Amino acid sequence: MKIGFVGLGNMGSAMAANLLAAGHELVVWNRSPEKAERLIAAGARLASSVPDTAGGDLVLTMLANDAAVAEVVFGADGILSSAGQATHVSMSTISVELADRLEETHRAAARGYVSSPVFGRPAAAAAGKLFIVAAGPSEVVARCTPAFTAMSQRVFSLGEKPSAANVVKLCGNFMILAAIESLGEAMTLCQKSGIDKARLLEVLTGTLFGSPIYQLYGQLIVEGNFRPAGFAAPLGLKDMGLVADAARAARVPMPVLGILRDHLLDTIAHDGEDSDWSAIASAIDRSAAL
Ligand code: NAP
Repeated sequence: MKIGFVGLGNMGSAMAANLLAAGHELVVWNRSPEKAERLIAAGARLASSVPDTAGGDLVLTMLANDAAVAEVVFGADGILSSAGQATHVSMSTISVELADRLEETHRAAARGYVSSPVFGRPAAAAAGKLFIVAAGPSEVVARCTPAFTAMSQRVFSLGEKPSAANVVKLCGNFMILAAIESLGEAMTLCQKSGIDKARLLEVLTGTLFGSPIYQLYGQLIVEGNFRPAGFAAPLGLKDMGLVADAARAARVPMPVLGILRDHLLDTIAHDGEDSDWSAIASAIDRSAAL
């Protein structure tokens, strides 16, 4: 397939590399062009502009946040201004509201649109082992299959309404951070009670909590290994804000969310913008004078 890729950050550069490795013809664009160098050396073409990425079958966006996606799609020199008719596949973690706006605007422009956010950190992206949650008209989602296959281990279909995929992605990130929070609190309690955090993790993951989330984040917390960030705390803060927006719109109280947001703010204030979001465990330690 002929695929455009916009956004070559930690996730996007790894995903784009897998598309190239699978034999797709790739046109790439990134705000900071130097991040495209490795992909160009591997056979991708550097787009002259964002609209230049939308001349093929698909144009994938993997950008930081709502503002970046809005700029790249609706901006003066955005995807919507392209004469090309590539289906837009939005893979960033964005708001439900923006996903709805993308659906409407692309429909009005007779361009296909699919929301397909992902689960998995940069290492999973590099290994082609992401989980993709996709939603949109079934014939449009079907067009994306060859690209999804190159980047993921499994695709979940959430039906015809694109923003349903974004709701599910936001719920997933809320639950991951809630798991990190409860694990962090339990580890702090153990440590203050004279039990190693590593020992607690061994018991919990070896009994009732053997999920990848507890294993991965538990190890990071035991090691205090929060840099370089696989998923930076400011991105987590952005996502908890998006969960809050969706919850407000749907009239769903989510009291745990407030704790998570405050601990992310505490972490960013104390440890900096470049800490992993699992560094909220340090905020919990600090509050217990550990
Ligand atoms: P990242 O490394 O910070 O990359 C962000 C990308 O967005 C870069 O290409 C950046 O361009 C671009 N960008 C930011 N603002 C822009 C703007 N105004 N206009 C144009 N481009 C802009 O982030 P990431 O970790 O790859 O995450 C990308 C998305 O995936 C986010 O929505 C994140 O929530 C989601 N996600 C991340 C993970 C993870 O573990 N990292 C997992 C699942 C989902 P520059 O290079 O010029 O800065």
